[in-house]
Amino acid sequence: ERTLAADWEVSRNTMVRALTELEDEGLIYSKVGSGRYVQPLPPVEMISPFDWKDRLLQETPPVSNFTELLRLSGSDSKINFAFGEGGRHTLLTSDFGEHVNVQRILKHADAHYLTPINGHPELREWIVDMMNLVQITSPEQVVVTSGSQEALCLTTNILAEAGDAVAVEMPAFFGALHLFQAMGLRIIPIPMDGEGMRVDVLEGVLARFRPRFIYTIPTFHNPTGYTLSMERRLKLLELSERYNIPIVEDDAYRHLHFEEAAPPSLKSLDQHGNVIYINTFSKTLSPGLRLGWVTASRPFLQQIARRKELMVTTNTLAQQMLLSFIKEGDWNAHLEKARQQYRCQAEMMGEYLRQLRPTGISYTPPRGGFYYWVALPEHKKPGEILREAIANGVLLATGDMFLSREADQPFIRLCFSHEPVEQIATGMRVLSAILKE
Ligand code: PMP
Repeated sequence: ERTLAADWEVSRNTMVRALTELEDEGLIYSKVGSGRYVQPLPPVEMISPFDWKDRLLQETPPVSNFTELLRLSGSDSKINFAFGEGGRHTLLTSDFGEHVNVQRILKHADAHYLTPINGHPELREWIVDMMNLVQITSPEQVVVTSGSQEALCLTTNILAEAGDAVAVEMPAFFGALHLFQAMGLRIIPIPMDGEGMRVDVLEGVLARFRPRFIYTIPTFHNPTGYTLSMERRLKLLELSERYNIPIVEDDAYRHLHFEEAAPPSLKSLDQHGNVIYINTFSKTLSPGLRLGWVTASRPFLQQIARRKELMVTTNTLAQQMLLSFIKEGDWNAHLEKARQQYRCQAEMMGEYLRQLRPTGISYTPPRGGFYYWVALPEHKKPGEILREAIANGVLLATGDMFLSREADQPFIRLCFSHEPVEQIATGMRVLSAILKE
């Protein structure tokens, strides 16, 4: 720089300014302790043209089956056996309305400001107590997320990238399937039977494909309603440790059992920090709250928190509403009412299904959760049943919506959580007529 300035009688400051300008424009670059270099640039004709508007048209992610069901539900109101949501009519909403004083919450400045990234400390503390897990003792071990779907999304993002294999029990919750597919993961399906995931099949898959994680809903599974037996829970944990492959446990329905409580979660049996546990208030309270949580080993949660930072904390107002509900209401009494209500709905649907057994349908009555997974006789096609049901004002989900690839599935999924018992009876009369045809 000094030589150039002297030769050309240009001041040093001018030279430095010029070089800075060239650097800002990306025409040169500097290496510390070495000097400045000309940036090799491809000739203009070699820079491939890029049209961002074209790209928007080319790379549309696939439509989720949830969106597809919304579309099918159309504008007329239908009896809804399709969506795995709590009922709109329910005491869940009235309980919530009674105990959450929104005016009072809004008057508090705290409600308007962000909580720490990991969620409201008091809420996290309550979650720790409520979960009652031996290994989870401090609020630092919990991150509050925008529904469990966000927890699953962050988890998947940490554990896998496009092209990686993941082991998923099949059929599977379509929110999870859609996420894994959109992320370009290779889904290795693990079959299920009445006792949940076939861990004997899983073993071969772990040895052969070394998937990045195992995704499972071991308790009151969506869509089948099956619950993983205790023996298989222990085997699954043993395999996870042996092959050093983590388990992602989605426990959305745990608290909604009809008779005896659910078997212990994988997380509570996990001795080695191999389970990433996610849960949600969507089934016990309201999916619109968008509140869920994740707990795992500390290093894993640190990774979650880093990614969560990119999206800022979960809705503070929703967290305040939930806290107010917990403090002013009685959570256990609320859960008990919810269980009773879902049990009544399940019984009403079960009554009609029992009478339909002679038509050749088969199913395992669920012990909790939201679903009947009904196998149809050979001559009945799920797509045709769906079309006829819609034409007669009933919406349901077909088995193929829960598969990772297109295949015929002789199943329909009937969700009883959404409608009050009278509507369930009306909808089931419509379905009975279709199945008896
Ligand atoms: N996990 C499972 C197994 C589910 O069935 C559902 C809802 N259908 C969810 C998660 C969605 O939970 P959230 O609303 O908390 O994202």
